[in-house]
This record gives sequence, C-alpha cells and structure tokens, in this order.
Amino acid sequence: MVSPTDLRTADAREVLRRVFGYDAFRGFQQDVIDHVVAGGDALVLMPTGGGKSLCYQIPALVRPGVGVVVSPLIALMQDQVDALTALGVRAGFLNSTLDLDARRRVEAAFLAGELDLLYLAPEALGSRSTVQLLDRGKIALFAIDEAHCVSQWGHDFRPDYLALSMLHERWPDVPRIALTATATSATRAEIATRLDLTGARHFVASFDRPNIQYRIVPKREPRKQLLALLRDEHPGDAGIVYCLSRASVEKTAEFLTANGVAALPYHAGLDASTRAAHQQRFLREDGLVMVATIAFGMGIDKPDVRFVAHLDLPKSVEGYYQETGRAGRDGLPSTAWLAYGLQDVVQQRKLIETSEGDAAHRRGLARHLDAMLALCETVRCRRAQLLEYFGEPATGACGNCDTCLDPPESWDGTIAAQKLLSTVFRLDRERNQRFGAGHCIDILLGRRTEKVTQFGHDSLTVFGIGGELREAEWRGVVRQLLAEGLLAVEGDYGTLVLTDTSAEVLGRRRSVMMRREPERPASSRAGRSRASAAAASAELPPAAAPVFERLRAWRAAAAKEQGVPAYVIFHDATLRQIATDAPASLAELSRVSGVGENKLAKYGEQILAVLAEAATTG
Ligand code: ADP
Ligand code: ZN
Repeated sequence: MVSPTDLRTADAREVLRRVFGYDAFRGFQQDVIDHVVAGGDALVLMPTGGGKSLCYQIPALVRPGVGVVVSPLIALMQDQVDALTALGVRAGFLNSTLDLDARRRVEAAFLAGELDLLYLAPEALGSRSTVQLLDRGKIALFAIDEAHCVSQWGHDFRPDYLALSMLHERWPDVPRIALTATATSATRAEIATRLDLTGARHFVASFDRPNIQYRIVPKREPRKQLLALLRDEHPGDAGIVYCLSRASVEKTAEFLTANGVAALPYHAGLDASTRAAHQQRFLREDGLVMVATIAFGMGIDKPDVRFVAHLDLPKSVEGYYQETGRAGRDGLPSTAWLAYGLQDVVQQRKLIETSEGDAAHRRGLARHLDAMLALCETVRCRRAQLLEYFGEPATGACGNCDTCLDPPESWDGTIAAQKLLSTVFRLDRERNQRFGAGHCIDILLGRRTEKVTQFGHDSLTVFGIGGELREAEWRGVVRQLLAEGLLAVEGDYGTLVLTDTSAEVLGRRRSVMMRREPERPASSRAGRSRASAAAASAELPPAAAPVFERLRAWRAAAAKEQGVPAYVIFHDATLRQIATDAPASLAELSRVSGVGENKLAKYGEQILAVLAEAATTG
C-alpha cells in the first residue's frame, strides 16, 4: 500500500511513477501540474483520452488538503472512486445516490483529512450544508470536469454549472482547474468568462487522435453494413453505435442481438434503472456493443472502446468529434465509422426547418449542419478537415482515414447538376404538387412509373436525359447539391426546390465538382490491414497472444470478484506489455507502464503465477 503521508512530500514525477506506474508525462501534463501545484488557475483543453485526469489528480496528491472535483456524471462517480482506490488513492464522493450513513462516513473522512480526492455533483455546491462542510476542511484545489457544461449553446448544458463562479468568491486562495474535451475557441471563451477564469492560464492541446481511423461511407442498408463492419473488423470488441431516434436504437439493438452480437439499447425513453444497468454492463463486461442515442456517452472513460459507429448523420462536427472521441482512449487502433446518405440530409434539413427558436437560431443550426455535410462530402483527408475546423493548421494527409487509404475520385458534375436542377425547375411550376428526389430521378432516367405517367411528366423535355448515370449516382448528385446549398428541401414530403444559388449553376456561372459514388460497397480490407483495428490481441508477437488471453481471463475473474470494471484492475495496454515482456520478478514487473506500487503489491504475485503457468503449459 502506498503510504499517504509519504506521498505528501513526494514530487509530481514520483507520484506519477509510484501511484500510477507511468514513466513520463504526456504532452503538457507536467506544465499544468506544476502550475496548479504552485497555486495557479488553469483551463485545460485536451481531447478525450488525452490524460486530463492526472492534471488534477496529481496536484491533489501533492498539495496539502483534499482535491474537490466537480463532475456532472453522478452515475460514474463510484467507478472513478473505485479506480483511484485500486491505485491506493483515498477517494470518496458526495451525491444524491448516497444514503445518510455513507454520506456521514465520507464527510467524517473529509474533515479528518483522510481523503485525497472528493467528487461532488455541481448541485451539491448549491446546498449550504455542503459549503459549510468544505469550509471546515482543507481544500487542495477545485477541479471542474466537463467544463463545457457551463456553455448554454452546447448540448450538455447544466444550469448548476453557472453557479460555479462562486468557488472563486468563496475560496479565493484555492486554485481552480477547469477541464474539457470540447475544442472550439468559442466554447473556450465562454467557459473562461462564465467560470471567472479569464485570468487563468490556458493549456490547449492538439485535438488529433491519430489512433482513430475515420471513415464515412455511403449509406445503403445501414444495419447490414454495420454488421459487416463488426464481423470483419471488430469481432468481440466493445463499441458504441449511435442512432438518431429511440425507435432505431431499439431496432438496431435487436438486429445485432439476433445476429449474434451482444448489444444493449440506451436512450432517454428507457427508465433510469434500465439505463443505469445497461451502462453498468457496458463498463464491466468485455466486448459489449451499446446502441444509443447521444444521451449516452459523456464521461464514459472505458479505455477499450474499439469503435464508434454512426448510423445517422450527426448535427454538428463538434458533436461528431466528441462522440467518435470515445473510441480508443487507451491509444490502441480504433475505428470511427459513419454511414451517410441522401435521406440524412433531407431529414436534418427538415428538422431544422421545423425546429423551435427564431431565425437566428435556425441559421446557427444550419451552419453546424453545413460543416458536417462538408466533412462527409470532402475528397480531402478527413482528419485534416476536422482539425482545421477546430482551428488547428493541417499537417498534410494523415494516412489513416478513408480518403487517405482509398482516395475517392472527383468528377465534374456541372452538367448532371444542370439536368437535375432543370427538372426541379420544371416541376416547381406545378406548385400544388409535391415531388421528391425519387420522382426527379425517375424522370431523368426515363422511367414511366405510375406517378410519371399520371402527371404527364414523360412529355417533359428533361424526360430520359439522365441515362449516363445510375440511380445511386443521381442520388449522390442530389445529396451533394443539398449539402452545398444549391438545392433545398421543403415540407413534409421532402419536395426539392431551387435556392438563390441554383441559378449560378443553371446559368453556367458556376461548376460543381462531385465525389464519385463507388460501384459497390468499398471493401474494408485496405483499412483493416493498414490500421489493424481488429481484436485486442492483434499485433502481439505470436508467443505472447495466448499469454495475453490468459491474463485477460485472470483479470475478468478478479474484476468480477471485486465488482469493478476490468480496466480498473489493468488496462489492455498494460496486459499486452506484460505478455510481451514476460517479466520474471516483481522488480521487472514494476517497470511495466501502468503497474504502480499498490497494484504491484496487490496483484504482482498473481500475475507472475499466471505467467509461470503459461510458460509450463505452453
Ligand atoms: P481524458 O480524461 O483526457 O479523456 P484520461 O485522464 O482518462 O483522459 O486518460 C486517458 C488514458 O491515458 C488513461 O487510461 C490514463 O491512465 C492514461 N494516461 C494518462 N496520462 C498518462 C501518462 N503520462 N502515461 C501513460 N498513460 C497515461
Ligand atoms: Zn486522412
């Protein structure tokens, strides 16, 4: 057991090594830690998986007093405390889930100086008794986690966060550190103002997540495409599948389960206890797939989520990046996969049109959607486009996204666009009628459908002039024109209408480059072999793979016995290194990254026994 009194005199690097078992700080962790240890305020922006927790956990251990962590994620506090306890750190939490006895115990420990970290829900700071409790103890620092919750424009807004500026007024000498993975500079400015952190030092990391492979594919039969992805590239892996509606969450979860993939639904329509139970199972069991609306995911710090799949178009690049960022926190290869089609554009545009709020609000939504569509339609490196969106200069093609791995062809779609827009123009004159994309394409392809003949559209001059493209290609044309705002949809039936800029194309004053629609679903082989985002045992030396499996089995049993998620015991990355290095003694084992003093004392002998057994039985 690490002795807490020793730690008090230790420096940050020693804490990193002894408690967490890591050799070196990542990125600017050390700068943040030094700054906060010295009593400074900090605003930290780092992508998910960047290592934000250490930025406040280590100062809390080094400075005298208790580090108070404000977090909106009540359902995850127990896991956070369990993970710290496993490291030998003394942690507790206060929130509405505790009964009176448990609350009293935590309060007593806090007052006796027997805690290193105390987690609080933001609403707790609105209660007088909690504030008085804090007044009676010694506080090392305040950490405000998920600080973007203070932003009224973001989708995670928590009114209680607005009151957090009181921390500074009430405890002016206690350093504050606010942390978020939300990247835009507008959000950053809002956090600084609302939390009264304008004088704080800002630490802004690169938002690149090189281990995540970004892929956006044309949507055909989305559930089947998803199943193929899971079977081919992620058998037995844990992952998250995002859907827009509760109904499609339910259907997709049923579909996966019926096809032998262990999947659970999660959406706001399920009662709280079912949601909590599903989240709990996702965190604790290996290899479960969570099918969810965006109600799921904030603060999920499961390190081995191997893929995040979107079956519907996200509303903004911010949301998309935050959701996909939940993959691969452990730094191992992971996949972010999105299936996207014409219907998504029509649906999202319609949602905006019918949304509540004034015109300015709707324009804001449309701007966000446009950026997302531009990402989907780009022929450039997806990562470069994402990073530029967040204000980071592009560093060239990444080599780990679909456009880098399998460059799409672009083609001059000006004439096709003119044909389509002319058709829309002709139909537009029959104002009382409602004609969507399907009907326009039927006309272009010269199909005498019932509707075409009923309205006499086979006598239009545009009838049958589009034979050079397949139906899927025409849908691509419609989608890309919608994405670029050269065409719009209106009303409940998705009627196509011209926009102010359509005339530029019709009048040949503007050309339109398009992304070519692939003939068949692109094979995923290229992505797979290059990124090997496969099962967790990929890439291990042949001799180490069976050892890794044994270690995982040992870990699963230990996690079950203690009632904690497997990753609280050791991360995959640590077990992989143990399997590869095959340490022969406790001293050698202690050098593996992720093996701190407490875990060495607790599990060291067991690990060596598993290794010895693996060596003798082969
Ligand atoms: P964030 O909160 O920014 O999403 P975490 O704090 O959960 O990220 O850290 C992500 C992962 O990286 C965790 O598994 C953590 O243990 C690991 N990690 C953080 N800092 C280091 C480091 N300096 N060396 C090795 N691993 C680290
Ligand atoms: Zn790329």
